[in-house]
Amino acid sequence: MRNDLYDRTVKCIRCGFCLEACPTFVLTGQETESPRGRIYLVRSAIENQIGWSEEVQAHLDSCLGCRACETACPSGVQYGSILEMARESLESKRLRTWKQRWARKTLIKTLTRPNRLRMQTAVALKLGIKKTPFALSRHLSSDEQEATLPIPETGKWPQSEYPKPTRQVYFLQGCAMRALFKTTNAATVDLLRRHRCEVIISRSAGCCGALATHVGLADEGRKLARSLIDSMPKDIPVITNSAGCGSAMKEYGHLLENDRHYAEKAVRFANRVKDISEFLYESGFVPPKASTPMRVAYHDACHLAHGQGVRSQPRELLALLPGIDLIELEEADRCCGSAGVYNLTQPKLARELLERKWNFIEEAKPDVVATGNPGCLAWIAQAAKEHRSAIQVKHTAVVLAEAYLKD
Ligand code: SF4
Ligand code: SF4
Repeated sequence: MRNDLYDRTVKCIRCGFCLEACPTFVLTGQETESPRGRIYLVRSAIENQIGWSEEVQAHLDSCLGCRACETACPSGVQYGSILEMARESLESKRLRTWKQRWARKTLIKTLTRPNRLRMQTAVALKLGIKKTPFALSRHLSSDEQEATLPIPETGKWPQSEYPKPTRQVYFLQGCAMRALFKTTNAATVDLLRRHRCEVIISRSAGCCGALATHVGLADEGRKLARSLIDSMPKDIPVITNSAGCGSAMKEYGHLLENDRHYAEKAVRFANRVKDISEFLYESGFVPPKASTPMRVAYHDACHLAHGQGVRSQPRELLALLPGIDLIELEEADRCCGSAGVYNLTQPKLARELLERKWNFIEEAKPDVVATGNPGCLAWIAQAAKEHRSAIQVKHTAVVLAEAYLKD
């Protein structure tokens, strides 16, 4: 793995084309907070020119993992995999205190177990707790700012009459999605059924492992990935409405390449994964007839745009809805700061990015902001709430599915 990581870092020719694409470089102006600087730190650590130190770890911790640098890079540097492999290497050095390690594991375990997350958010709501518990947040981050807890969706989705199915698909309910975004999941299933799909929800499907892998807990990520692959054995598409999960599942081939029992299965599984917008676009989207006049701005989730290269499909689907005025946001594909658990581990930088995103949204004056990732959805909705704005923030699948309800 170490050589593989090194080979990836030497592909960087230090041209600097990625700098202005990198949100943390744009905010701080520091080379060590840029893709080029981080790659150089990792390469220097492998060459033993510097140690795998707390300082190196801090510069990798502050990276969003948004992969905007990959889109900008003319040399095809796979920064996302460099980041994950370097984080795994750093975690194995145990540079964090045991309390910090406890806090990170607790966070990942809470977010990736739907029953636990559902129960804890219900208790927090009942007690009026709006921030992460101090005991947890002070070990997750050195920032003073505590992070805001997401509020679970409660809206019911109406039943409709669906055409006879002609094909089967799996739908990944997700871990945090299942607990917090029930309405969005129901709208996604509704869209699939309208497009003649028999939707199979595997009871044994759990978390995809993305959150664990992104924070350097790759063994936990691999364990979850193997289990998810086993839970969906049929050779049919695996649909997700979470950009982070989709991006992680499409990279299972890399995650499990050294696992002789799963390496091949992982590649086959990865090839079956489709984001909901990608799937609807490719399988012939049939728009509703009724008109829904509104201005919609689309925010690119990083793991959809930079991670999966899915940019045009959601825009084209939205533009097909009668009455929709689709507007482009300034910096539409700049990270909003949510980035998995980043808004919990780096709340200060995450906030700055959210405010920047919100300013561009307000300038565009949409009725609705659509996006394809639950983290972005909750984080931007938080800004809308704090700014007491009438702008609604919805998953792209919800905007699409709601448009049929008038037919
Ligand atoms: S654009 Fe690519 S090659 Fe150039 S500095 Fe950034 S990562 Fe390195
Ligand atoms: S992943 Fe995002 S935050 Fe990290 S170095 Fe690349 S552009 Fe910057």
